[in-house]
Amino acid sequence: MTTNRLLLGPGPSPVDQRVLRALSEPLLGHLDPEFLRIMDEIQELLRYVFETRNRLTIPISGTGSAGMEASLVNLLEPGDAAVVGIAGVFGERMVDIVERSGAKPVAVRADWGRPIDLSLIEEAVANSHPAVLAIVHAETSTGVLQELEGLADLAHRHGALLVVDAVTSLGGHPVGVDAMGIDVCYSGTQKCLGCPPGLSPITFSDRAMERIHARKQKVQSWYLDVSMVEKYWGADRTYHHTAPVSMNYALREALRMIREEGLEPRWKRHERNHRGFVAGIEAMGLEMFVSRKNRLWSLNSVRVPEGIDEARVRVRLLERHGIEIGGGLGPLKGKIWRVGLMGSGSTRENVLLVLEALRESLEFEGKVCPSGVSAAERVYFP
Ligand code: PLP
Repeated sequence: MTTNRLLLGPGPSPVDQRVLRALSEPLLGHLDPEFLRIMDEIQELLRYVFETRNRLTIPISGTGSAGMEASLVNLLEPGDAAVVGIAGVFGERMVDIVERSGAKPVAVRADWGRPIDLSLIEEAVANSHPAVLAIVHAETSTGVLQELEGLADLAHRHGALLVVDAVTSLGGHPVGVDAMGIDVCYSGTQKCLGCPPGLSPITFSDRAMERIHARKQKVQSWYLDVSMVEKYWGADRTYHHTAPVSMNYALREALRMIREEGLEPRWKRHERNHRGFVAGIEAMGLEMFVSRKNRLWSLNSVRVPEGIDEARVRVRLLERHGIEIGGGLGPLKGKIWRVGLMGSGSTRENVLLVLEALRESLEFEGKVCPSGVSAAERVYFP
């Protein structure tokens, strides 16, 4: 048996027993009529979570990066331009994929910890006539929420398709694929959807599918070519690759739990627990890294106080309290902690636990802070 950790890092997030039990259900063949019905239910539930009517709404076999790669390699052909917003690790990863597909990335940057300025995106789109505008909605490396308003109009006015990474937002923040006019949106199972890592839910608008069906060249990736994958998930049921059967059971159960809770109450739960956490952190005399209006509810970045070795605090949290949180990446290494309150991990109990464990671990390192618990409790019981 492995150790029972409380996963409050940048993902994976804690998984409910119902989802774990679904993983251990007997295997069905990937073309068994019963499994095909499960696939249909998953597509229906994913349309609910993405808030879309898009026909091609499926889980890609692979983690969130597979969804990222699938969106870009299917839409881009060699020589195309793609405007990519970069304000952290995942925007950089998109650029790498764009380059590998033979397309030309046009990067629009923001400082890590800040959202990307819409006027800079507008300028880049107007100047480069891109095939794609790609952006990360919830930048997990910094904790910043990027507003999506206006992006689809901008892209469509210039003949581009809008790709949105909702890996750390879907199921925790409103995404609204149809209302926002997003052409391709992907996520990962292990964040706010409350499932283990392994699948990448993705949805393609009709406009995106038309672009894919009109390609001059084959998609450079055989595995992620959605014009073939769609035949397995659609009426044809043509074998493409063996579906990860158990992971699909788990995803179905996690999505059923989201439907039972309801999207709005789920977003509100994520927001409330974020607010409880922030109130506690500030009462402890610590500081959030991202300014109030740009903060994610699912991923909370906290500045490491002067003179504290952040890695030692994380080790103490893990070994003494059984709680995993994340450290900073790239330029933020050593400067922030990243506390994930995602999916079934986003609870009042977990907020109070992590606040107290952080206080104790800081005290162990010689930094005494007041408790954040009563300030957090005031958010729940005003
Ligand atoms: N995009 C974002 C915003 C992410 O946070 C992550 C992973 O944390 C990914 C993409 C890549 O997902 P994965 O690690 O599941 O491949």
